Amino acid sequence: MCYAIPGKVEAINQKIVTVDYYGEKKKAINEFHELSVGDYIYAQGGYVIAKVSPHQAQEVLTAWQELFFKLQEIDEEKSRFLPDKKARENKVVAIFDRVNNGHQATRDDLRYLLALKKRADLELFFKAANFLRQKYHKNACCVHGIIEISNYCTRNCYYCGISCLNKNIKRYRMSKKEILDSVEEAVVKYGFKALVLQSAEDKDYSIDDLVDIVKTIKERHAVLVFVSFGEIGKRGLEKLFEAGSRGLLMRFETSNPKIYEALHPGYSLESRIEELKYAYKLGYLIITGGLIGLPGQTDEDIINDIYLAKDLNTDMYSFSPFIPHPDTPLAKNPPPDEEKVLKTLALVRFTVPKEAKILVTTGFETLSPSARKEGLASGASSVMLNVTPLKYRPLYSIYPARAHEKDSIDAQIQETIELLKSLGRAPTDLGI
Ligand code: SAH
Repeated sequence: MCYAIPGKVEAINQKIVTVDYYGEKKKAINEFHELSVGDYIYAQGGYVIAKVSPHQAQEVLTAWQELFFKLQEIDEEKSRFLPDKKARENKVVAIFDRVNNGHQATRDDLRYLLALKKRADLELFFKAANFLRQKYHKNACCVHGIIEISNYCTRNCYYCGISCLNKNIKRYRMSKKEILDSVEEAVVKYGFKALVLQSAEDKDYSIDDLVDIVKTIKERHAVLVFVSFGEIGKRGLEKLFEAGSRGLLMRFETSNPKIYEALHPGYSLESRIEELKYAYKLGYLIITGGLIGLPGQTDEDIINDIYLAKDLNTDMYSFSPFIPHPDTPLAKNPPPDEEKVLKTLALVRFTVPKEAKILVTTGFETLSPSARKEGLASGASSVMLNVTPLKYRPLYSIYPARAHEKDSIDAQIQETIELLKSLGRAPTDLGI
């Protein structure tokens, strides 16, 4: 299965190319490829990642064509939002109407939506969020892969099972060869076009080691690389950008400095935010967000989290429920209820309807087996598959029994494709 559809270059304006996908026009940034009008390319996250021969492109386009339009039809059908007379009197619909007409939802609107409890109100809210997703993103669903390369950590995050405070876990670090083999498997065998390399804060991997790994990946493969190694400093971000990575995944965890500092003694929220801002300035695509259900967190904090992610020019919003890990200081704190997580995803869609890619996180899938289906039907538009070698996955135990921990890549792809097909979504990222 392929995770992108080739597009035809229609116009070139310096670094910006206009790309045609079955008649739909999108823009992408081209930094590395010699392109002329009429060429075929693959793009991911708004970046051109490969040029493909017309022959190869035609083959994929022909194979996809029928399915592509069929899926779009299913999605359109499923995301229709036609509230009846009674529903039209509901405040949820009044807020939706304003957002749908291009107005910003106010903080009061967000407060109202996040506090909803009645089943009928929630259904309207989720359906409206799904409508907005379809309106702006059509049926595109980003399917990224993630490789967790090390669980050695120097940080003390109170919620995290692999923090340096936990002495009960076996530590692992993938070698450069193991990482490159995993990347090759994901890209060549399985067709991933965007990969996240993630690690705990393992000082045994120097920035130069990571640069070497990213450079080698970029030399060998047409893939968009996201880095997720925590706070690596401005110089680290610059070096990894030069090496060819174009995305940063780093949650700010919470926008409330008091909560942040209570859960990360000795560290400041400000420095994390500084890095996220700097990364955006350098040209990184930003994936960030917060944890839902942290001790002391209020609805107002969650709304602030969404606003902070928006201020950080987030490309993909990643909000996960906090899930307690027995070997951490937060072992006794309960996770949030599923509904709160779903409401947060829908709320992101109401806040940034047009711009946001919204991820259904593995954390949410761990909390609720139907998270993916429900999340994708409530405003979300992206999923991430775990392509870490199976033997290491249980060791990256940020929280216990993570969803898909034991699922082969094959099995995850099968399950994802089946779900996406049933919802009318295409595993593509056509950009904007
Ligand atoms: N060192 C990297 C990666 C950290 S682990 C970084 O700092 O970005 C990846 C993510 O796991 C964290 O950002 C955190 O949001 C999440 N995480 C850790 N413990 C968790 C828990 N108990 N429940 C839910 N998510 C958790």
